[in-house]
Amino acid sequence: MPLLPPVDISTIQTRLFIGGKWVDGLAGGEIDVFNPYTGKKLVAIAEAREEDVDRAVAAAQAAAPGWARLAAHERGRLLLKLADAIEADADYLVRLEATNTGHPVRDCMNLDVPRTVLCFRYFGGMADKLEGSVIPVDAGFLNYLEREPIGVVGHIVPWNFPLMFVSWKLGPALAAGNTVVMKPSEITPLSTLRIAELMQQVGFPDGVFNVVTGYGNTAGQRIAEHPDIGKVSFTGSTNTGRGIVRASAGNLKKLQLELGGKGANIIFEDALLPAAVGGSAFGIFHNQGQACIAASRLILHEKIADAFLDKFVALARSIKLGDPLDTETEMGPLTSKLHHERVLSYVEIAKEEGGEILCGGRVPDAAALQAGYFVEPTIVRADPNHRVQQEEVFGPFVAVSTFKDDEEALAIANGTIYGLGAGLWTQNLTRAHRFAKAIHAGMVWVNCYKRVHPASPFGGVGQSGYGREMGFEAMRENTQPKSVWINVDAQIPPFYKR
Ligand code: NAD
Repeated sequence: MPLLPPVDISTIQTRLFIGGKWVDGLAGGEIDVFNPYTGKKLVAIAEAREEDVDRAVAAAQAAAPGWARLAAHERGRLLLKLADAIEADADYLVRLEATNTGHPVRDCMNLDVPRTVLCFRYFGGMADKLEGSVIPVDAGFLNYLEREPIGVVGHIVPWNFPLMFVSWKLGPALAAGNTVVMKPSEITPLSTLRIAELMQQVGFPDGVFNVVTGYGNTAGQRIAEHPDIGKVSFTGSTNTGRGIVRASAGNLKKLQLELGGKGANIIFEDALLPAAVGGSAFGIFHNQGQACIAASRLILHEKIADAFLDKFVALARSIKLGDPLDTETEMGPLTSKLHHERVLSYVEIAKEEGGEILCGGRVPDAAALQAGYFVEPTIVRADPNHRVQQEEVFGPFVAVSTFKDDEEALAIANGTIYGLGAGLWTQNLTRAHRFAKAIHAGMVWVNCYKRVHPASPFGGVGQSGYGREMGFEAMRENTQPKSVWINVDAQIPPFYKR
């Protein structure tokens, strides 16, 4: 079996990273981190509490003026060096991420790690491309707009793509000249700590990047309410996002919220079925469905529904579940025990509401998979108003409905509180453009699903949040505009004539 060697636990960094030093939490607490494939404890890490966040913010504040003054190309150079260091460390990072999250190494090798490298390279190159502008105002005045760093930025990260999200948040924040206090998820902190080690190795100044590994209701809450943090970028559930909005009110900090989703994936009667079947499977089953942009609602034209489902169900049944460290594994376990229970509870909810389980909906039988948090790829037919069609399950669980015409398809697609990603499969160009405009979402994919690139803005509308990651938009999110007026030779009318 092409099994990669396990990660050497004794070398894993487990402490907080504050002001360029590895330190214990002041209260001395620890958090157990688990391997979702074995269900066993991997390692205990230091628990950051409120007072540790305060220390990290102080370190970030002390580092902020120097980092902001550094020539932009020097900030970029460090980010590019970090990208190289991650690439050189890929073999280790792939196994570390797979072991902590349950992502199959196949995905970590092809997506998580190379995409992290790409993102740091993109923002490394971006650092010295950020320009202000000159605004045409009244004659005799020069008015220019500069984009200034915000200062200390707080990052609160979920457990579903911990490594990749470090690059999404850190790349633009640092390129723009901010310093950062990051709280990874308590469930998946290990790759973030590894990134901090690499940042230290390539020479980022002390205090520019700080990692506090703590729980949400203590360390996370403190970041959200901290008076010296100017902006928080949060990725996580919509409910937690609402709490962040409330906690941020004290100093009116700027917020960027990347929240939940319930991706509509519409298959029209003229779609090329093999591509739509494969693309839809990637849309929902990649990363065990633990993606905010997952194609979790499959909306099928009634004429092709049966033909599509025959192929889609057969594909779902053939997905190879197994050890994340096995290069042939296509689907690993869910990332935590609690989440495993939550996803399985939605199977019961679907049944209670009269949904029809077309496949999966259970823990697989194989003896080798019993210790891990596995759920079989699950396809459920349910009415568009059922809970499994409205609530984010965040697992390998797709809810199917059918439509008669375009109007009905659009009503179903737009019929949730969310608006993150959506896909449609058709060969009709007019319809593709019409739907791309009409769908209530921050991202729309036509004849593909879940395409992401560091140059392309990522984010949602409605209760999927606001603000954008990546692209030039991310640089705007990470800076504040300053308008400067110079009186060059203006004749100022005498308002107070005496
Ligand atoms: P979560 O909201 O439970 O936790 C996210 C982070 O917030 C964690 O670091 C957690 O410790 C922290 N947190 C929890 N309570 C907090 C509080 N009171 N104050 C401050 N921080 C707190 O989400 P999760 O279960 O880790 O992640 C899954 C969710 O993330 C899903 O809803 C998913 O859709 C969403 N998500 C969104 C995007 C996006 O870009 N829109 C991307 C990935 C995941």
